Amino acid sequence: MSTPPEKSEDKGPSRNFIQQIIDTDRVASKNNGLVRTRFPPEPNGYLHIGHAKSICLNAGLAHEFNGEFNLRFDDTNPAKEEQEYVDAIMEDVRWLGADWEDRLYFASDYFDQLHAWAVRLIEAGKAYVCDLNADQMREHRGTLTEPGKECQYRMRSPEENLDLFERMKAGEFPDGSRTLRAKIDMASPNLNLRDPVMYRIKRAHHHRTGDSWCIYPSYDFTHGQSDSIEKVTHSICTLEFENHRPLYDWFCESLGIYHPQQIEFARLNLSYTVMSKRKLLQLVTEKHVGGWDDPRMPTIGGLRRRGYTSAAIRSFCDRIGVAKAASTIDMAWLEDAIREDLNQHAPRAMGVLRPLKVVIENYPEGEVEYLEAANHPQNPEMGTRTVPFSRELYIEQDDFKEDAPKKFFRLSVGREVRLRYAYFITCTDIVKDSSGNVTELRCTYDPATQGGNAPDGRKVKGTIHWVSADHAANAEVRLYDHLFRVENPNDTPEGGTFLDHLNPNSVEQIANAQLEPALAAAQPGSHFQFERNGYFFVDPVDSATGKPVFNRTATLRDTWAKLSKR
Ligand code: ATP
Ligand code: MG
Repeated sequence: MSTPPEKSEDKGPSRNFIQQIIDTDRVASKNNGLVRTRFPPEPNGYLHIGHAKSICLNAGLAHEFNGEFNLRFDDTNPAKEEQEYVDAIMEDVRWLGADWEDRLYFASDYFDQLHAWAVRLIEAGKAYVCDLNADQMREHRGTLTEPGKECQYRMRSPEENLDLFERMKAGEFPDGSRTLRAKIDMASPNLNLRDPVMYRIKRAHHHRTGDSWCIYPSYDFTHGQSDSIEKVTHSICTLEFENHRPLYDWFCESLGIYHPQQIEFARLNLSYTVMSKRKLLQLVTEKHVGGWDDPRMPTIGGLRRRGYTSAAIRSFCDRIGVAKAASTIDMAWLEDAIREDLNQHAPRAMGVLRPLKVVIENYPEGEVEYLEAANHPQNPEMGTRTVPFSRELYIEQDDFKEDAPKKFFRLSVGREVRLRYAYFITCTDIVKDSSGNVTELRCTYDPATQGGNAPDGRKVKGTIHWVSADHAANAEVRLYDHLFRVENPNDTPEGGTFLDHLNPNSVEQIANAQLEPALAAAQPGSHFQFERNGYFFVDPVDSATGKPVFNRTATLRDTWAKLSKR
């Protein structure tokens, strides 16, 4: 696990290696100083936090250099792509604050152009129709240590290839029976250059072009040329495409078209989660989670529903930086980014998650006082609210201990604490049920301590939160933990899968938390800090009018760091 990088404000003016490349390009007036980047998702799943890194990087560079940022869907595989994903991806990119203005593109819009380019390569003797099936092609391909073998179809004449390619397009041959391949070098040490497939036959309905094509270009024959068509100046992609670069170069050079500069960076990996779209899809389809937007998912939709803000995600991406070497970032850094944001902006409230009844014996029955509470202790401009105080209250079960050690500064029989914004109370007695569980505390309050200080100067060490039992709003609260139990939930060599590492306790649903009354009207999509309990977000999907459901976005401190120190 890599140590988390310094916060950006500590980094000073240092610039990442991509910014440095662009600085140099601009000094040399390359592309007349223009910077155009793009984010090129395949619409075959929902975006995750790794994609957010790429979006922030690409849109951030365009913004920094007064350039342009495109959104382009690389939609070349109709079997796995759907409009649902296109819509969700656009929503997520927009939500992250990246603006493609009027530059929304689809690789499928370039199908005619790509086809014309394929024909041009055939005419130039640089592409051929091959009749090998997938297994045979694999056999011919060779390995990293052995060169591949040329097949008999490689020597077909351009005329024959043009005819066959035309008939592939016309639907004369069955799916998978033929491919169009680039004629490069079957002995190249780079396997991507061993006559890669440019077109395959596939009768599948495409989300944009419908049934007008039965041949589809490969990703490799599409991606670089799409960047070229859009005049992308800096084509930024993840490291696994480094050895595809010579192929993209070969296509652009053979076609004599504009040549974008490709720059590779390391993809983001996060601990305690998975980032592969295949695995995320499996979690959804096998119902290990509630959907793509389950608040435990590392998807943008899941993080948003958990209560992450786009500002926090941008700040996280900024902080982790951009590097050439692969590493895994500790999930704690993502949580830290949202804490930092919500600490500044979330109004405070009191919510008791696991209620224990308290009866204040010397407080008059039927009386209610409305006490003033600050909405944010450091931001007086966020104002105040009032909370009702009465004879019967709820506090957290955890805030009472029958056999309390000396250093337990909360309640126990004979001990005194401060109720936040209210009074000092002293526990005088307890009530137990037949199995010996404490069900109620009997207490007294000191009327002279209103506001939290004793006129005689006596001190209490503990301050706890509370709600008035008669007035409290009843609400469902969901507490989340990591989706996986281990830092690196990979498939195991013993044949186990990443699913074996799922955390069976990744969500805890509390049906009847007791919250201060105003929270009954909390709007879906709003944030609160429940004092001492963490940051909470009103679930936009499951909440109903007057019946909010609260997702815990994050605890107040990094509880995981505490655990590992013990
Ligand atoms: P796959 O290609 O296996 O379906 P993918 O995650 O690469 O999955 P794409 O839709 O191709 O999905 O990704 C779009 C862009 O996001 C690509 O440019 C890719 O490099 C980038 N990207 C994907 N995952 C990460 C990650 N973990 N960190 C940074 N960038 C990423
Ligand atoms: Mg990809």
